[in-house]
Amino acid sequence: MPSKANDPKRKTWLEIPKNTDFPIQNIPFGVFLTRDDIITIGTRIGDYAIDLGALHQLGYFEGIPLTDDIFLQDTLNDFIADGRKTWRLVRDRISDIFEKSNTALKDNKEHLDRVIFSMDEIEMQLPVQIGDYTDFYSSKEHATNVGSMFRDPDNALLPNWLHLPVAYHGRSSSIIPSGIPVHRPQGQKLPNGATKPIFGPSRLVDFELEMAFITTDANELGQPIPVDEAEDYIFGLVLFNDWSARDIQSWEYVPLGPFLAKNFASTISCWIVTLDALEPFRTESPKPEEELLPYLQYTGKKSFDINLEVALQPDGKKETVVCKSNFKHLYWNMSQQLAHHTINGCPVNSGDMMGSGTISGPTPKSFGSMLELSWKGSKPVKLKDGGDRKFIEDNDTVVMRGYCQNDGVRIGFGECSTKLLPVFEPKKK
Ligand code: MN
Repeated sequence: MPSKANDPKRKTWLEIPKNTDFPIQNIPFGVFLTRDDIITIGTRIGDYAIDLGALHQLGYFEGIPLTDDIFLQDTLNDFIADGRKTWRLVRDRISDIFEKSNTALKDNKEHLDRVIFSMDEIEMQLPVQIGDYTDFYSSKEHATNVGSMFRDPDNALLPNWLHLPVAYHGRSSSIIPSGIPVHRPQGQKLPNGATKPIFGPSRLVDFELEMAFITTDANELGQPIPVDEAEDYIFGLVLFNDWSARDIQSWEYVPLGPFLAKNFASTISCWIVTLDALEPFRTESPKPEEELLPYLQYTGKKSFDINLEVALQPDGKKETVVCKSNFKHLYWNMSQQLAHHTINGCPVNSGDMMGSGTISGPTPKSFGSMLELSWKGSKPVKLKDGGDRKFIEDNDTVVMRGYCQNDGVRIGFGECSTKLLPVFEPKKK
């Protein structure tokens, strides 16, 4: 079990903001470019980025079995492949190094200069090379809303939905870190009442409020992962904005599912928060409404109480929070998703990413997409600075945030932020 690193009483000798997402109890993992343009694996405490490559070279991880270059890499894949035992030893050691009473690094000016950066002098990168990306569809409220809008409110859920965590295979090449803008996509759309499609910019660009988990090497071809062992193979979680073009989607998706409407971009937050850091926030998933087949039946609490919100910020204006939801609303939990994903023997590798699906809650303000918030465009969402939105407009920025909070501690994910640029125009020669 995770240990003293989670002790809510623990304090750090670093000066950190009071309500930071990144207290010493968090210790997430990420990849960044230093002020000297060197790429390294790091962690974050408060508003400091900490260079784990430098810490390792200086001997601070002595006694932990790590290769010399494990943190001097541009992705976390190899570290994640080292497995849970190693992640825990490293996270515990980082916690010790920065714990208030430990002066070894604190009092070594030369080491401090090499190890510690302020967040504004580094540039965050994609933390893993994502091999395969799968997107689930695990919120009952979201599936019900979409089914009601596009099919039949009386039979909103398709017959399989309560029996298995529905998903599709996505594309990893367009997954980007927070802060990178994306262009409005173009494609085929079928205008209302028309029988033939037209080509043009998507007019219904939307966000999907999701989280994604990142796996380690889990199984060999042919070997399923039992539901109650699944968490051993989950490294951690990020916020995930699964950008969607609803007009392209509704024309293209029959019969094989989403394609170009979904793979023009998906944004993740840059710090991977470990399952160990989330341990104090475990909670029950919703009760199954149909008896589950044995391979999906689990014991214990497999969900996490993570507050989520989405803010929309028009260019140069104030942001408006348009949605507040929670990860715990998901009907299917990560363990069930991973058990189902591998029940046929499909291998899961280090650095694979699994999206949760849009996380909508039970109330209209907790719906996790503009499609639902504006109910297909029929109820525009009011913005603070005047105006409203049915979908996302050019130069709007969408910001997702997430955090856990109890009496003792707050563990957060930082931001997952993306600006939507106008359609890409090739430069004139
Ligand atoms: Mn999605």
